[in-house]
Amino acid sequence: MATRSEQLAAADQSYVWHPFTQMKDYNRVDPLIIERGEGVMLYDIHGRAYYDGFSSVWLNVHGHRVPELNQAITDQLALVAHSTLLGMANVPAIELAEKLIEIAPKGLKKVFYSDSGATGVEIALKMAFQYWHNKGMRGKTSFVTMNQAYHGDTIGAVSVGAIPLYHEVFRPMLFPSHVIPYPDAYRQGGPEAAAEAALSGLRLLLETRAESIAALIVEPIVQGASGIMVMPHGCLSEMAALCRKHDVLFIADEVATGFGRTGAMFACDLEEVTPDLMVVGKGLTGGYLPLAATLATDEVYGAFYADYEERKTFFHGHSYTGNPLGCAVALRSLQLMEERNLVEGVKVKANLVEQRLGPLADRRHVGDIRQKGLMVGIELVRDKVSCEPYDWKERIGVRVCLRARELGMLTRPLGNVVVFIPPLSSTEAELASMVDILSEAIISVTEQGWGA
Ligand code: PMP
Repeated sequence: MATRSEQLAAADQSYVWHPFTQMKDYNRVDPLIIERGEGVMLYDIHGRAYYDGFSSVWLNVHGHRVPELNQAITDQLALVAHSTLLGMANVPAIELAEKLIEIAPKGLKKVFYSDSGATGVEIALKMAFQYWHNKGMRGKTSFVTMNQAYHGDTIGAVSVGAIPLYHEVFRPMLFPSHVIPYPDAYRQGGPEAAAEAALSGLRLLLETRAESIAALIVEPIVQGASGIMVMPHGCLSEMAALCRKHDVLFIADEVATGFGRTGAMFACDLEEVTPDLMVVGKGLTGGYLPLAATLATDEVYGAFYADYEERKTFFHGHSYTGNPLGCAVALRSLQLMEERNLVEGVKVKANLVEQRLGPLADRRHVGDIRQKGLMVGIELVRDKVSCEPYDWKERIGVRVCLRARELGMLTRPLGNVVVFIPPLSSTEAELASMVDILSEAIISVTEQGWGA
């Protein structure tokens, strides 16, 4: 008789198609099946414990099984679990919108709910497009994005995506976007040269094509999925200023960077930028429930506010828009962030992580360590002097993550970049243990050939 674990593993391999996963690889190994979480730990069905070193895809704020968040959901369940925002409202959706506007970069005044980062991005794109349509400037229809950008997996979000491995196959079904360089200080001769490459690309485009461009979409300060790339200081505010000058909307995709992750409530705050549209998701509910939001300025909102016959209504909505359970837990999560002074705490913890990672920088195959707050990417290279990358066939990032798992920490690679995005609630001792595991995994794979 098969054990329960064996039955679950067989059923997983028979029925579940996993995201971003080559299932042929997945089916070769025993699946990792999580049964429960506690604080920063996850436990599999065999009772093995792992640090949640990538915050369950970058969204864990307060840890797992947080009594206050559980209670917020339980309290809301006793009232109503679902309703709609179509022509009516619900209490948590109103209260959360008020709170979001209080903490968002000032100038953002309206909240449009959805249920994932990608849907939040779709909404921002459609709002930007229709904003110009409603204002009678119907030639402003295209979008600008940054090289290697990732904004989600729905068709609009993929159209402004620029990671060939994920996006190229879909190109024939997408709308075309302009792509400007992303400042890569590591490979483009330092921060100043890299920033100038990106800014001059944008400047040229806006000087020549602004009348056909609706908006620029940017992952502010940290471009996540491309390998935790960090923008040189000043770049974001300069891009926002260029957009303003040329009458192009500025969309900040804060799905990964929002809610304290970079050491500020929003990455835009690091350069005091107020975007025209801002997308949030992931950490909004502390990672508990699928909820996202697109925030807009009064100027954007005003272009849709008209008599019905003028046909300026924003015709967009999802069945779960403004779900009360999601909004209730999000509101409690934001309150907890304040009560625990979490954003200030991230700055202190980020320093500790930076110091503890320091010695890794001298290792033979560590090319670049990029960090903003508690978002870290460690790029592994075959040759440190020439920055020559590892061949993807060596699966260096995957091997490091498998070794880290063996040592008791979960994370996911982005190609040759090992990602470390711990829950914001991690204690200093927990962070130290996680960094030590990461360092050991990197050394054992790159210097001792583990998993080759
Ligand atoms: N934008 C950014 C910057 C992201 O990092 C992600 C997800 N990693 C998304 C959008 C898409 O969010 P979701 O997976 O919730 O659709």
